[in-house]
Amino acid sequence: METVYLLHFERRYKHAGHYLGSTSDLVARLAQHRAGQGARLLAVIQAAGIDWHLVRTWPGGRQRERQLKARGGRARLCPLCHPPQRRWSGQLWPEGLAGTSFLSGGSQ
Ligand SMILES: [Zn+2]
Repeated sequence: METVYLLHFERRYKHAGHYLGSTSDLVARLAQHRAGQGARLLAVIQAAGIDWHLVRTWPGGRQRERQLKARGGRARLCPLCHPPQRRWSGQLWPEGLAGTSFLSGGSQ
């Protein structure tokens, strides 16, 4: 299943504070990103020592990704930057992924 995902950076890198991507294997993709692979921006972030968190996912592929990007600011999509006014009923991250090392910092 295709998933669109949003990463929130601990610190901004230039103008970038987020990364929005899509993948058919989120766990593998995040592992790649942790290794500084798969996306140029993530490689730069990794090299700069900036940690990141997976903050949100949506079901869908590239088309959904484009839709979300077209809406503008990534920060508006980010629950860390923009806590929802009303209790958010969405799923923060896919089942089984919560508590894994991908979700929070540290490479240990
Ligand atoms: Zn954010």
